[in-house]
Amino acid sequence: MNHDKMINISTKRGFLWPSFEIYLGVSGFTDYGPLGAILKNNIMQLWRKQYIAGEGFYEIESPTVTPEEVLKASGHVDNFTDPMTQCEGCKDVYRADHVIEEVTDLEVEGMTNAELDKIVKKHKVNCPNCRDKLSEIWNYNLMFKTNIGAKGNKTGYMRPETAQGIFIQFKRLSRFFKNKLPFGVVQLGKAYRNEISPRQGVIRLREFTQAEAEIFVDPKDKSHPMFNSIADEKLVLNSQATQIEEKDPITITAKEALDKGIVANEVLIYQIYLANKFLNEIGIPKEALRFRQHLPNEMAHYAIDCWDVEVDTDRYGWVEIIGIVDRGEYDLKSHSKYSNKELDLFISYDSPKTVSKTIIKPNMAKFGPSFKQNAPKVKGFLESVTDDNIEAIKLSIKEKGKYISNIDGEKFEILEEYLKFEDIEEEVSGEKITPHVIEPSFGIDRILYSVLLHSFHVSDSENDKDYFKLVNSIAPIQIGVFPLMNKEELNEIAIKITSNLRNSGFRVDYDTSGTIGKRYARSAEIGVPIAITVDYDTLEDNTVTIRNRDTEKQERVKLNDLNEIVEKYFN
Ligand code: AMP
Repeated sequence: MNHDKMINISTKRGFLWPSFEIYLGVSGFTDYGPLGAILKNNIMQLWRKQYIAGEGFYEIESPTVTPEEVLKASGHVDNFTDPMTQCEGCKDVYRADHVIEEVTDLEVEGMTNAELDKIVKKHKVNCPNCRDKLSEIWNYNLMFKTNIGAKGNKTGYMRPETAQGIFIQFKRLSRFFKNKLPFGVVQLGKAYRNEISPRQGVIRLREFTQAEAEIFVDPKDKSHPMFNSIADEKLVLNSQATQIEEKDPITITAKEALDKGIVANEVLIYQIYLANKFLNEIGIPKEALRFRQHLPNEMAHYAIDCWDVEVDTDRYGWVEIIGIVDRGEYDLKSHSKYSNKELDLFISYDSPKTVSKTIIKPNMAKFGPSFKQNAPKVKGFLESVTDDNIEAIKLSIKEKGKYISNIDGEKFEILEEYLKFEDIEEEVSGEKITPHVIEPSFGIDRILYSVLLHSFHVSDSENDKDYFKLVNSIAPIQIGVFPLMNKEELNEIAIKITSNLRNSGFRVDYDTSGTIGKRYARSAEIGVPIAITVDYDTLEDNTVTIRNRDTEKQERVKLNDLNEIVEKYFN
């Protein structure tokens, strides 16, 4: 790993570029250059392959501009904040928890602003820039606010995550999936967070790309049909216990982690396995990854279990690149409450069940004289109360001899003699449930950074070179085609080969400039896995050489076999 060298080459060769550079730049934004853009798309395509083709999930695309109501319901308007402080001297602003952690080495995650203020005072935490005093800490909302429409009277925000677009379409989605659980829906796209003074390149952006899957499951059944096939897979888990006891992460099989109750359920651990598999496939080695469970004080109040996938970096330490959470029923319940729409699902039983229940029978002889024209309204209310409310009515009548109902804002006193409770047996074919949601949330930019960092080969001898040892499946350019010398008769064949390979779907770079050694080095540097060279022997015997980036070995092959060999190599 070598962050500085890696960033240097990736900037020089067109992977990552600073945004708005000719206007002095703005931090928290990045451009993907020509190779970076292909690399990012390749990573996203492989992600789609794993989750859409592999898991049978479906993708949707919703707007990035989101009306306030949605983000009020999700909790973002009120709670999507970071603690902020400002220097009273130079006026620079900081994330208070970050400044404190840098200066004191204390873990302050989950603390209130008042607790942070106390630490600032006690440890005399000052401005990292000018050493002046820091202000009292306040909550700063990370969302970019905007106005929708010409009149500007509707508040909107740039979405801070892609997930909400999926939750609010739950009704239509469940119909699409024929009302059968589980089902998975994904969204890949931009998310926006107006981070306070981001200084960590693509690790902390104000506009970044997420790939999120929302898996809707039956709360009573979080088993996974493929669990047995992954039960023996080993995972590196940094559980709550290992963190609290300050021990090293444990290597444990998926089955053991489940049996010991370290991970909450099969769906969640299957998602941890899938994330691990995906990252290994795009070139991040197992040794550079670990899964860290959220500590009780950092886990969202509604979360049933939550794991971060972390990657080892030389510059930023262990960095979270994916979050995997069992969000319970929180999102659907909350959108249902705010929108006043039912976001639940009727689950049919395999065969009907007989259940005992209590019903209320109004005594109409008393109802008429007591409630007069409101009698039908009160009767309707009593007949439609849910099981929980029947218990509450029963209790109130038992204790006070009456129940006071509030129907459309009007109060009615219902006395004991106005109704009867009757226990009945009923045959039911199913029930309404609010599904739970399990969500793997991938940050594509951080993953791309990790791929570049971990595939970056740092030269260890004079003959060696620094280069990106990118895996075949994501290398932005797959094949270099080089005529040995820039001569018409060689170029003609090389152009034909290039065109044939491009027509077969390969990303090919045709290059004639500089010595062949320089061209090999340049193509290796940007991670091109193989190079094909056309030389004078080609004119004689219709053969070319294929040179392997990593072994530097050259193989002579017949032109006629070239397509087949290359197909085999990449597929
Ligand atoms: P979160 O919704 O905060 O759990 O974020 C999910 C994933 O999005 C994280 O694991 C990161 O990979 C990515 N992410 C979150 N915030 C940022 C950011 N400011 N810049 C880049 N990636 C981010």
